[in-house]
Parts: sequence; structure tokens; C-alpha cells
Amino acid sequence: STAQIGVTGLAVMGRNLARNLARNGFTVAVHNRSPERTRSLVAEHGDEGRFVPGESMADFVASLERPRAVIVMVKAGAPTDAVIDELVPLLDPGDIVVDCGNAHFADTRRREEALREHGLHFVGTGVSGGEEGALHGPSIMPGGSAESYRKLGPIFEKIAAQVDGVPCCRHIGPDGAGHFVKMVHNGIEYADMQLIAEAYDLLRAGLGAEPAEIAEIFRTWNGGELESFLIEITADVLAHTDAATGRPFVDLVQDRAEQKGTGRWTVQSALDLGIPITGIAEATFARSLSGHVDQREAARRAFADAGTKWQVDDRDAFVEDVRRALLASKIVAYAQGFDHIRAGSQEYDWNIDLGGTATIWRGGCIIRARFLDRIRQAYDEQPDLPTLLVAPWFADTVGAGVPSWRRVVADAARAGVPIPAFASSLSYFDALRAERLPAALIQGLRDNFGAHTYQRVDREGTFHTLWAGDRTEVEA
Ligand code: NDP
Repeated sequence: STAQIGVTGLAVMGRNLARNLARNGFTVAVHNRSPERTRSLVAEHGDEGRFVPGESMADFVASLERPRAVIVMVKAGAPTDAVIDELVPLLDPGDIVVDCGNAHFADTRRREEALREHGLHFVGTGVSGGEEGALHGPSIMPGGSAESYRKLGPIFEKIAAQVDGVPCCRHIGPDGAGHFVKMVHNGIEYADMQLIAEAYDLLRAGLGAEPAEIAEIFRTWNGGELESFLIEITADVLAHTDAATGRPFVDLVQDRAEQKGTGRWTVQSALDLGIPITGIAEATFARSLSGHVDQREAARRAFADAGTKWQVDDRDAFVEDVRRALLASKIVAYAQGFDHIRAGSQEYDWNIDLGGTATIWRGGCIIRARFLDRIRQAYDEQPDLPTLLVAPWFADTVGAGVPSWRRVVADAARAGVPIPAFASSLSYFDALRAERLPAALIQGLRDNFGAHTYQRVDREGTFHTLWAGDRTEVEA
């Protein structure tokens, strides 16, 4: 037993993670259901470090030093359960099973509880950054027990992306906390991409500009507060010309966005917790809408002339308006995402460090951005921040962007350019800062049709008005 850690499941993700571990000096036991993958990994990359191939699960487990740590990197869902069932009888109390697949946090909670009864640690771990990240340094979000992190931490922190000498990995919290945070991370990724897409659409409609010109605008933005991987690759994709036709690449791609389902999980969880993550929800629905081709075709025919022509007079001012509106909307999306994490942490007793979570997204993952340092600072300065929106830098930035935000949303509405995420972010902002909300009327209606009662602003207690009778008010 010589290997410090093992990886079972050697498709693209597991293979790259195993190589990353080996390249960082760890002795890695490797195993895959069909042994050809194990053999080809060792044949092609055996010179990158020390691999201990196991043909059977039993050989694989026997090659691990104790306490054993096994990373499971197989297809999420039933295959993960199948592999766990095969592993458990081969392990001893104190051993650690790490699921690095894209599991739903509820499954992770279930598995953690089941393995705890066998004296095993089960560590649901979010891994972001795709295959490149797995190989060169992902952002790693491990859940599970603090005890398991004492063994895993030094290994994961070494193979994770590093930003300013700080690893993009930290213990998130017990049981499903890691997979939960990974899920919200993916939701935020949806919101980020939708906002970028809307900004592009606005620039295209408002300026009548070609994708290559808009690429230059994004390139400029990437030098400022919006600096991020997604803004950088937006410039790259918009500047790309299709080799076959010579036309802008983006004009040749079908406008139907696909999804693997983590956006949906995020929205479902937010509904359960009662947290309005409108930015992520709009982004998820926008992808769904894009796929409803028959409805789009029918509506396009019925309402071809419903928009009005957009005439932007001052191009530079407009570009700056869109930039500010994008930044403000992005801040809303992140504020909502962090609210969601805080709510999950409270509901499931995870005690998640919000600022620390921002830190580990600075590298390795798709939403890596300069902006995340600001989030860490905000929570460092005030851990009980009611919303990220009111932290000093965020409040200043959003406040300064409000006139731009309103102009952009109003102009787009007039012209008929769809901007669900920009518009709903602005509404969210206005709702949060409103002196009074029409929720008061909703309460009145609920009391009228269903005697659901209400509370008054001027007196303690719960009341009901006898709507069908003489309309006197009674204490409920
Ligand atoms: P896949 O999701 O395509 O899964 C293939 C692997 O699962 C193979 O090793 C396969 O073994 C194994 N497997 C499937 N069913 C079983 C089973 N019943 N018993 C044992 N092994 C089984 O691999 P990926 O590398 O793409 O992804 C691995 C995990 O990582 C998934 O959970 C995925 O969601 C997640 N992922 C994460 C990404 C990220 O950015 N973080 C990106 C992509 C994936 P065999 O070779 O024998 O068929």
C-alpha cells in the first residue's frame, strides 16, 4: 500500500485529475470499470508521475495507504451509487470516499449519512473548471467532515488553481456543503453569461455594430472592473470569423442555448429556501425560451413590427451606459447567489464562510474574476452583511450606475430588445430599496378571498376584516 490517494473513473475528468495529482508529486492509485482506460492512462502519461494501476476495485483499494482516500469521478447519479456500493465493503472505518462528480447536494447528504454509519467519511466535492481545470488546477469545493479535510486539504490545495499564492480550495462545510456551493457557482455562471449575452445584444441593436467591433468593446471592458475570464472569451468568440463562409462565427451558430441542469437545480433550491435569485432564474428561463423554436417562429410572424427602431446618438455614452448596467446587474446576481449560499448554510447548519467562498472562485473556474476580491473584502469587513449590495464598494458602484441602468433598460424596452436579466435585476434593486411594497395589497387580497389575515403598520397583532359582512376588523 503505497498510493496516497486513488481515483476511480478515468474518463476525461478523472484522467486529468489523476494526472494533476501525479504531476504534483502524489502517488496515485488509478482504476476504471473498464480497464482499457486505466491502461491507456498509464501508457500515455505514466512518465508524468507515480501511478499505481489497479485492474480490480480490490487491487485498487489494496494499493492505498491508510486512512485510504478514494476519489470517485464517474457519471453522476446511479453510477456513483453503484461505485460507492462496490467500494464500501472494501474499506475500513476512517477511510474517505470523495465524490468529485456533479452530484446534487441532496444526494450527497444522503450518501454522507449512509457512509457515516459505516464509520466512513463521505466528501462531496465540487470541482469547477472542466477538463482543463482538472488537469492544470481547478477550483475545488470539498464538503464532508473537518477530519477528512485534514487528510485531503494538503493534497487538494496543492493541485488547485493558485491566485496570489492562495489555493482555490478550502473546506466549505459538512456533508453536502461543497456540492451546494458548486451548484450555486454554476447558477451564477448562468447569470453571468446571460448578462454578457444581453450586453452584446444591446450593443448590436443600439450601435448597429458588427460582432468584431463589439469584441473590441469587451476587450476594453476586460481592462477594468469587469475583468474576468468570461468577458475575455466573449471578446474572443465575437472576434472569430467562420473559415467556411467568412462571416462572423456568432451569426452562424443556432440561437438555442443548452443546459445540463445545474441552473435548474439552483433555482429549485432557491424556491425551496425562499431566496429570490431572479438573475439566475431569468438566465435559466432564457435558455429554455431560446429552445422553444415553434413558439418563437409563431410569435415572430404575429408581431414582426412590435419593436421600434433604435437610434443611439452618442455612441461612447451608450457603450458606457451598457457597461455600468452590466456591472450593476452582475452585482445583483452575485448578491443573490451569496444570499442563496447563506440561506443554505443556515438551513443545513453548514457554517459556510461567504468571503472564503469568493476567494476560491478567483481561479480555476469559469466565473473567475477580479470582482471576487471585492466580495471577500466585503464579508471580511462585515460578516453579517444583509446584502452584498450595501457593502461600500458595491453600493458606490451600483449607485453610480443607476442612471445608466435605467436608460439602458428603458431604451431596450422601447426598441423591443429582450433583456430579461438586466430588467429583472433593476426591478429587484428597486424592490429592495422601496419605501413601501405593493405586498400590502397582496395581503389585503389574501385576507379578502381566503381570510389569510394581515398585520398592521400601526398596531401589534394579527387581524382579519369581515369582508362579506359589515367590514369590521377583528383580531385573529
Ligand atoms: P462521464 O460523466 O462521461 O462518465 C464516464 C465515467 O463513468 C467512466 O469512467 C465510466 O466507466 C464511469 N461509469 C459510468 N457508469 C458506471 C458504472 N455504473 N459503474 C462504474 N463506472 C461507471 O465522465 P466525465 O469524466 O466527463 O465526468 C465525470 C464526472 O465529473 C461526472 O459526474 C460529471 O458530471 C463531472 N464533470 C464535471 C465537469 C466539471 O467541469 N467539473 C465537467 C465534466 C464532468 P467506463 O469507462 O467503464 O464506462
